[in-house]
Amino acid sequence: MRKHFTLIELLVVMAIIAILAAMLLPALNQARARGEAISCINTLKNLGHMFNFYADDNNGLLPAVNRDGSGEGFWTFQVAPYYNCNDLSWEQRLKDLAEAGLRCKTGAALHGLNNPNYGMCAPKNVLNTPPKLSSIQAPSLLCLAADANWSSSGWYNSHIAYSCRPDPIHPGGTSNILYYDFHVNARNRAEIPSDGNDVFWTGETQ
Ligand SMILES: [Zn+2]
Repeated sequence: MRKHFTLIELLVVMAIIAILAAMLLPALNQARARGEAISCINTLKNLGHMFNFYADDNNGLLPAVNRDGSGEGFWTFQVAPYYNCNDLSWEQRLKDLAEAGLRCKTGAALHGLNNPNYGMCAPKNVLNTPPKLSSIQAPSLLCLAADANWSSSGWYNSHIAYSCRPDPIHPGGTSNILYYDFHVNARNRAEIPSDGNDVFWTGETQ
């Protein structure tokens, strides 16, 4: 005669499955977060290529963070053609840029953003002047772009500076940083200088 599971046996099996799932889920979430951080580094490396192409076409100048204070003056619109995003509507162009890959998955999910959630940093926080690559003393130390977020005091996802810092959203409380020599690394909050005169914000070693 076929033996059936008793109710107790069934409950024990279900409890074991629940315990295993509870143990595995945090590990899976951590693995996903680490995967997204690596993907973000690749996105910033790709952005570095786009900035490089832009500089090649513009006498060694990068786009200004915002050339004229308008919505369309932001750097995101200047690099958009290099992502094949040429829509006339700036709202659509922001969405297209995100769909073309200029977006951090973690930042987008955390802040509910459907646009590039990276900020550009200008040497000495001069926002309306296109930085000239050859005039920067320490390009490998100067922040060019990083994870950035929506702040209650305004949009920071197009601009970062010592006063509106990179967003530490990745494992270990790190932000991914693209530098003016186009290399990328992760830094935690304590490693990001709050002094606006630091080479990280000015590009000058003094
Ligand atoms: Zn990121």
